[in-house]
Amino acid sequence: MCKEEVERTLVIIKPDAVVRGLIGEIISRFERKGLKIVGMKMMWISRELAEKHYEEHRNKPFFEALVNYITKTPVVVMVVEGRCAIEVVRKMAGATDPKDAEPGTIRGDLALDISDAICNVIHASDSKESAEREISLFFKPEEIFDYPKAADWFYRKGI
Ligand code: AMP
Repeated sequence: MCKEEVERTLVIIKPDAVVRGLIGEIISRFERKGLKIVGMKMMWISRELAEKHYEEHRNKPFFEALVNYITKTPVVVMVVEGRCAIEVVRKMAGATDPKDAEPGTIRGDLALDISDAICNVIHASDSKESAEREISLFFKPEEIFDYPKAADWFYRKGI
């Protein structure tokens, strides 16, 4: 289990959130938590990229619906960095089906309805391996930025 390690994870603000005007709300939650956005862009995911991203679900009955869902409108993709970011962002996202997601989580607070695929507002990488694979699918190295946050000095140990 992660304790101190600074990690990077991939977040996708999915089409249902984009068309409902929730981009700012979702980004704010990550910023308020103390996570750092080190990469961000709006893009329209191609069918090819969607199939690669969801490779592990290729044989599931909802695969076609899932690809249609994620390619329906543009999305916002982000690389989010911070202490144990992979686990923290998964917790903030909540359960896959928004009806089961706890209040206080992004899906618990912001989603309920589903379509042919479970429409659940965001994607968040589920492991270190997935995070590395997914970040490299969506971002070139030069699209990820290293910069200090204003409060970094405050949390520095020994001060
Ligand atoms: P995951 O890799 O667990 O995030 O699953 C990929 C995405 O597929 C989820 O975020 C949902 O949007 C969708 N999904 C997962 N399970 C189902 C399901 N049983 N039926 C329809 N869509 C699903």
